[in-house]
Amino acid sequence: MGSIQLHEVTKAFPKSAAAAVDRVTLEIADGEFLVLVGPSGCGKSTLLRMIAGIEDISSGQILIDGTDATHAPPKERDIAMVFQSYALYPQMTVAENLSFALKLRKMPKAERTQRVDDVMRMLRLTELASRTPGQLSGGQRQRVAMGRAMVREPAAFLMDEPLSNLDAKLRIAMRSELARLHERLGVTTIYVTHDQIEAMTLGQRVAVLKDGALQQVGTPQELFHQPRNLFVAAFIGSPTINLVEAEVSDGSLQIGGHAIPVPAHAALTAGSKVVVGVRPSAFELAEFADASAPRLSARLEVVENLGDEIHAIFPLDAPRVDVDAAVGVEQAGDEQLLVDERALFTAALVPRRSLSPGDEVELAIDTSRLQFFDPESGLALA
Ligand code: ATP
Repeated sequence: MGSIQLHEVTKAFPKSAAAAVDRVTLEIADGEFLVLVGPSGCGKSTLLRMIAGIEDISSGQILIDGTDATHAPPKERDIAMVFQSYALYPQMTVAENLSFALKLRKMPKAERTQRVDDVMRMLRLTELASRTPGQLSGGQRQRVAMGRAMVREPAAFLMDEPLSNLDAKLRIAMRSELARLHERLGVTTIYVTHDQIEAMTLGQRVAVLKDGALQQVGTPQELFHQPRNLFVAAFIGSPTINLVEAEVSDGSLQIGGHAIPVPAHAALTAGSKVVVGVRPSAFELAEFADASAPRLSARLEVVENLGDEIHAIFPLDAPRVDVDAAVGVEQAGDEQLLVDERALFTAALVPRRSLSPGDEVELAIDTSRLQFFDPESGLALA
């Protein structure tokens, strides 16, 4: 059993004005795979370290399996942590690295060997048993680090960016290995990453943190389709959601010279200003879309051919939403080399025909997928 409950967990480091972790309340069910995600410095590692017991908690409460563990020392928490750095013992072999913690616990040798052998088989480490970490590849070292956590058969795994030292391809492969492993072992796992794609592919639920505060917890689908605020909308999804300010009048959204009918799902007040979020995949070349779908005309500035998808980037005659100021996250616009005050939109299109920069195209929008936010508070409008 390994449920974990966090109640108003807070960390205030001495001499820093803002709390690194600010009243986080969260329940992780026994056997769940929960990912903590957020930009650098948002407090993910600090929160994980408090759960592990290697960082003091300033206020709040942590329950592990229903028992108060707020001030319990790490070794009484029945939790195993896997670090980004792997933290392997360099002079020990793979097998010794795995059995070390069991030896400290004075587990009888036969039982120890059995457990280490089982885990090595599961992680395809048997052939590497007598090598030292220096003789292993990054991916193999990562598997040893996992194995070391697994032999302890803990109630929960805590993983802090365990794949971040691997190259992109290996990281993707290890991601699905981790998912399979979790499927097989069913051990409660809290996994920290700054990579939203990793979060979305691994997490049964994903908790998004910003400036130490929890923004939203939900399934990947919920975060993508019903973000609670602009931060979550802009942080989740690749390419990034397009955001633009619009005025509501005569049942239409006035966006950069275009009038788009307000969709049925939106309850918007006439005369109000809203931020409209359009996922890049909500666009389609008009000639291939339903004739009744609202459309925009666009002059493409950049065309990125990804093979099974085309990213077409075009300006709108509307000021760009400064998401950076509003929510402190990098948006496509913030990574621009050239200063451009116009909103730059990205459409992720099915490559039904070739497109080039300079092309004038009509883009249909699936308005049932539009998301709306209050420009002042950044909160999603129901
Ligand atoms: P990253 O992805 O870059 O590792 P993170 O989300 O894990 O970031 P933390 O490492 O938890 O963030 O840090 C959260 C905040 O607390 C940061 O502002 C950081 O500077 C601060 N912080 C972390 N450790 C300490 C410390 N020992 N003393 C003071 N401030 C700290």
